[in-house]
Amino acid sequence: MEYLGKTKIIKIDPEKPDEAYLQEAAAILRRGGLVAFPTETVYGLGAAVTHPQAIQRVYAVKGRPADNPLIVHLDSFRRLPAVAAGIPPAARRLAEKFWPGPLTMVLPKKTTVPEEVSAGLPTVAVRVPAHSVALRLLQLAGVPVAAPSANLSGRPSPTRGSHVAEDLDGLVEMILDAGPTGVGVESTVLDLTEETPRILRPGGVTREMLEEVFGFGGVEEADPVAMESGRPVAPGMKYRHYAPKAPLYLVVGEPARVNRYIADRLAEDGKTRRKPAVLAYEEDRDYYRGVLFFSLGEREKPEEAAERLFSLLRACDEAGAELIYAVAPSRTGLGRAVFNRLWKAAGGNVVEVG
Ligand code: AMP
Ligand code: MG
Repeated sequence: MEYLGKTKIIKIDPEKPDEAYLQEAAAILRRGGLVAFPTETVYGLGAAVTHPQAIQRVYAVKGRPADNPLIVHLDSFRRLPAVAAGIPPAARRLAEKFWPGPLTMVLPKKTTVPEEVSAGLPTVAVRVPAHSVALRLLQLAGVPVAAPSANLSGRPSPTRGSHVAEDLDGLVEMILDAGPTGVGVESTVLDLTEETPRILRPGGVTREMLEEVFGFGGVEEADPVAMESGRPVAPGMKYRHYAPKAPLYLVVGEPARVNRYIADRLAEDGKTRRKPAVLAYEEDRDYYRGVLFFSLGEREKPEEAAERLFSLLRACDEAGAELIYAVAPSRTGLGRAVFNRLWKAAGGNVVEVG
């Protein structure tokens, strides 16, 4: 089961994907190998659901806890009956509106989908990614492909081919590198198995967008704080995640107060000689002259923070930061997903400054 070969790293143009390489990648998947590929959210580490051993290897390679299920990727809505035991009318409406796209639906699982994929749950998480390379690869493979993010478990998700190579070179058969992904944070995970649809993980399709379908208040959202203690519904949410090596402090509140708080802490930390880094918005730059500063983009453009977040967390490690302060985004629109990932990366180090 262990892979002892060399990883083929292929640069691929998302505008004109080279069919021969995609054929080769599809063949690897079909015979039970692992291929990392780009999607519009983050890179995925793919294994055909028809090969339980390949699925097991995904867990082993990533160091992923066995109780954290995988998302199955399809090339179109038409293939949904291959993995889902029932398709509620809401799923059809959502697919029409958001597929291909960053929305994962949790549905009753068909018994033919191996246990490993769903980590023993009676449900399966599925989506159709909006990326030329992913879609063509899935078409050519001709089977549903389970694919968690293509990073080592706990590390920031990969949004560049180089991130995948950092984590998985030598561990998988092939990496398709098509440059930066677009959205930058993972898909929204939406549970459709209960009466009311419920967001298990905020992501690329925002709560506001879902409310356009279900009406205002027509969507519930799992409280990630409560999930820390209770039975996890999206099991992936209970771990410290997306994390750089240095401890990260997420500072929540009104921007001027947040910036003053961080600036005060930096002045104090000066005495401890730990090298700090700051993740903040372009507008906050003036507070942090002379400090290692990583820009989340403009405050009013959460898509900028989403696109670069994971890359910046990796950059903090590379720059040797020993302590990171992050300015919390507002929890609306795509900002909600960015907040959630920073909150997970903070692993409890969250400061509210009012
Ligand atoms: P990743 O692909 O690494 O971004 O992680 C997939 C996410 O989807 C994790 O948070 C999983 O817990 C969640 N997930 C996958 N399958 C299910 C399922 N059947 N029910 C609930 N959550 C799921
Ligand atoms: Mg992940």
